[in-house]
Formats: sequence, C-alpha cells, structure tokens
Amino acid sequence: MNRKTFHLVSLGCAKNTVDSDSMAQLLIQDGFKNVTRPSQAGVLIVNTCGFIGPAKEESFQVLRELARDKRRGQLLIAAGCLTQRYGVEVAQKVPGIDGVLGTRRWMDIVQVVQQLRQTPHPATLYHLPEAPTVGRDEGNTLRVSVAGTSAYLKVADGCRRPCAFCAIPLIKGTAVSRPIETIVREAQTLRDNGVRELILIAQDTTDYGHDLGLKDGLAVLLETLTERVPDLDWMRVMYAYPGYVTDRLIDVMASRAQILPYLDIPLQHADPKTLARMKRPSNIEWVHATLAKMRTAFQDKPNRLAIRTTFIVGYPGETDQEFQALMDFVEQTRFDRVGTFKFSFEPGTTSEPLGDPVPADVKEERWNRLMELQQNISLQINQSYVGKTLDVLVEGVDNGISVGRSYRDAPEIDGLVLVEGQLPVGEIVPVRISGAMAYDLTGVPAKERL
Ligand code: SF4
Repeated sequence: MNRKTFHLVSLGCAKNTVDSDSMAQLLIQDGFKNVTRPSQAGVLIVNTCGFIGPAKEESFQVLRELARDKRRGQLLIAAGCLTQRYGVEVAQKVPGIDGVLGTRRWMDIVQVVQQLRQTPHPATLYHLPEAPTVGRDEGNTLRVSVAGTSAYLKVADGCRRPCAFCAIPLIKGTAVSRPIETIVREAQTLRDNGVRELILIAQDTTDYGHDLGLKDGLAVLLETLTERVPDLDWMRVMYAYPGYVTDRLIDVMASRAQILPYLDIPLQHADPKTLARMKRPSNIEWVHATLAKMRTAFQDKPNRLAIRTTFIVGYPGETDQEFQALMDFVEQTRFDRVGTFKFSFEPGTTSEPLGDPVPADVKEERWNRLMELQQNISLQINQSYVGKTLDVLVEGVDNGISVGRSYRDAPEIDGLVLVEGQLPVGEIVPVRISGAMAYDLTGVPAKERL
C-alpha cells in the first residue's frame, strides 16, 4: 500500500461534493494519487453529512465500515459537516478514526495528513479550529465538481437564514460569497474543458453578494457570467430562498437564453402558521405572486419555466388542517419537481424546544400522501411534453438507449430523458418526446428543433 494514495468517500449534498473535489485537488497538488479501492489507499477520507438524522446515520455507517476494514498503516480521516457539528463525539462513536477535520477548514486536509504521518502512534487528531465561517483561503483550488460535461460551481458557503429546523448555520456559519472574478475565471476554465452545463450552488444562492456590497447579487452574477462566458451552453440556478427572488433576477433569467428556465426554490411548507413556527417567510401570497410572475416571464419563451421545490411534513405542531393546506397548495401550484422530507428532530437548532411531537406513522402517512399527489401531477406535466422537442444533454448510453437530462432536470434529484439510439455523450441534442412516465420522459432523436 502506497502511503501517498487516498480514497475519498463523499456523502451529502452537491456542496459537499465540491468540498470533496477541492480536498482531492489539494492532495493531488501535494503528490497524492486518488485510488478507487479503499484497501489500496494510504489515507481514507469520508466527507460526511451532518444535516439530518438519516444522513448522519449513513455517515456513521460508512465510517464504521472503513474503520472495521482499516489495514495497518492506513489513516482514516472523518471530515465534513458531521465532524464540524459533533467533533470529538464522532471519534468516540467510531474507534479507529485517526483524524477529525471540520468542514470549515476542509482546506487543511494536507496539513492534517502530514501531522498524522509525522506522529508515530498518533492519538486521534482533532483539527477543529475556531473558525467563524468556512475559510476563504481556498488554496488555489477550483470550487467545482465536474461530472461529464456538467459541473457544480459553488458561489458561496454558509447561511444566515433563521430556519428553525436547520443545522446548516450551526455547521457552516454565516453566508460567505466568493468573489465574482474568481467565479467567472472558474466558469471560463470549465468552458475551456468542455463543460456544457454550469450549475450554481450555495446554501442560499439568492443571498449571493450581500457581503460583497452587492444589491441583487445573484442577478449581477448571472449578468456577468452570461456576458463573460457567452459560449457556455446552460446555466442552472439551485437553492433560491423565498422572498429573495427579485424582479431583476426574474428579468435576467428570462432574458438570457443561457440561463435555463428552471428554478429550485425550497418552500418547506405552505401553511402560514407552520411557516411561522419554522421561522420561514410565511407570506404565502408572496409565493403565489412571485411564482405567477416568473411563469408569466417565460410564457412566450421556447420553454416554459420548470419549478422545483422541497417540503417538510410532520413539523412540530402540524395539524391535519395545516397539512391539508400544503396538499391544496401543491395541487393548485403544480410544481414540476417536489422533494419531500419528514421532519428530523435536530438538537441545537431553534426548533429543539418544540420537540418532535408528530408521531412517526403520521409523518409517514403524510409523506406518502404528498408524494402520491405530486407523482400524479408530475406525470400529467410530463405528458404535456409528448410531441414536443427538447434539447437534451446526453450523459450516457446503455443497451442502445441514450440517457440524458433536459432543462427541467437537475442532476441526481430530478428526472431523465431516455432516447432511442446511440447519441454522442456530452453533447446537447434535440429530442422529440414520444412518451412520459411519472418522473422521466422517453424520446427519439429530432432532426432539428421544430
Ligand atoms: S436557507 Fe434555511 S434551510 Fe436553507 S441552509 Fe439556510 S437555514 Fe438551512
């Protein structure tokens, strides 16, 4: 086993994937080689997720397995959000962890490995320095994660919103925006390396630039990116915060063809009382008005706006009436994509005093009802695309079927387009939609967009 090799397991969200890829870049810059099998690696790293119960359990499970199979001379480092949130507890729960590195200092990964290598028989090394936010010293890394011709680009990290159920501000600290020039340079580098789709991510992209003295920072960033990188085909915006989708942002999104008519805007609920207990914007009329304004802005465009959102069911105090208000809202608003989570009791968040009073079976029953309702809506909306032609980014071919995504599909969380024939992987091609399923579409290659 070569000590200058590493194997990194990345868990959690796309923002964590970017941190994983940045840690990998730093290790490779320091002469390490990335290996695919844990048994071959001198250093094992798990970039953990510490957001909610199921994700935390998965992180512990992966750490336990690697610790169990760890070989003599191998180092096991737990990094990411779980370690930032629970620190010492993580190593206490999983014997065999050599190093604990918090997500706010992901950029110290090489230093942590060197310290462990220099110390014979090292006790667990805790690298959890007092850091108010995620570090700005990114060590000459590209804050991106590339998969094929699609790439996530992190525009900011941390969050300053007061959502009562959420541990992110505890883990990451307040929101820190990255300089526009750095983001533009990274987008140009990605374009130069064949990337066709740029996905802008942060905990809250609509808060971009507030700490850079920018008003409407996300709109400014999109204007700058489309002017400075005009030949990057697709730009997709994720994680918008309700209340901050401004008229200027809508105008920029609707007036620049590179920006996909797609918006991911987690709403979490629709009943004003529940939203107020969640410490979320509870002006549901604003939500209706803004979604209508956005849809209107795209109604004369080649593609209508696709909206993705997420909801939490079973939040403390959620009555049958409040849940019914959510169901009615989803039925009326007809989102393209909906993700649903059961409330996870998270100590340390401001919702902690509310406890977790909604029984698990009630959460389960509400989760199923909401998913079923959305499944029908999603199928009906998908059926409305039959006969239309959509541009599809081809991501793979399997048994003569090409698999890709349209503007309506963010990676990993939305649907796919399955196309007859062997299409060029990495290319964006017109596809005539011939069939619809609850989440995916089927189609045939189209000569040209009709
Ligand atoms: S906006 Fe709210 S839910 Fe999202 S990361 Fe920030 S605090 Fe958490």
